[in-house]
Amino acid sequence: MKKQLHFIILILCLSGLCNCKSNSVTQFAKGGESSMNTITRIKCKTDNCYLISEGRNAILVDTGSSQSLDMVIAECDKYDLKLIVLTHVHFDHAENAAELSRRYGVPVAFHKADEELFESFDRQPLKCYGLTGRLVLGLSLKVLRETKVERPANIIYVKDGDSLSEYGINAKIVELPGHTNGSIGVDVEEKHLLVGDALDNWVFPGMGHLYYNLEDIKKSYDKIKGLGSRTLYFGHGKPVKQ
Ligand SMILES: [Zn+2]
Ligand SMILES: [Zn+2]
Repeated sequence: MKKQLHFIILILCLSGLCNCKSNSVTQFAKGGESSMNTITRIKCKTDNCYLISEGRNAILVDTGSSQSLDMVIAECDKYDLKLIVLTHVHFDHAENAAELSRRYGVPVAFHKADEELFESFDRQPLKCYGLTGRLVLGLSLKVLRETKVERPANIIYVKDGDSLSEYGINAKIVELPGHTNGSIGVDVEEKHLLVGDALDNWVFPGMGHLYYNLEDIKKSYDKIKGLGSRTLYFGHGKPVKQ
């Protein structure tokens, strides 16, 4: 058991080192005849934010924690930011939302079922499965509990099927509950799916290791599989093609 745990720690450290070697910003789906949008991965401390852009227009999906604020601003400054979307309201995805919303004068979109997480993380406490889950939760639980996420003043509630075309991006909201009740993804041109923490890729891609509702996250996993071929962009880990 102890040996297994050491092995998992080693793998996570190595994957962290590999990620550090690559640039902190990576672009995918650069235009082309079949894809108009560009997806830029901003690799923050332990999580990813993404800019979905078409020309100058851009939407920021997740905002990182406060330690990553400057890096996220440096990328957003290159675009005319129209909207911020939160895949869910945990600090590592949402801590900079209020600050960035003020800075760029744009609304923050998220699912209403995550509203209560601005009050307290403990409204939807996380459980986990597997050794990776136990390790990640063990390392992050204290900071998840203690970091209060500021609620932005300018908000929009979004739900399944909502289009983001009015913000200049051909993408739709996909509800993916389970990690939190209000977890959502963003489906870009039915080719690229940003999944937040519904799936993760800490070591291998798969169902999110941390969840509030196990039945829901299993259904979300099946829902993603049912969407068909997509490149998957995780809240944690490198993108993969499904
Ligand atoms: Zn989370
Ligand atoms: Zn996360």
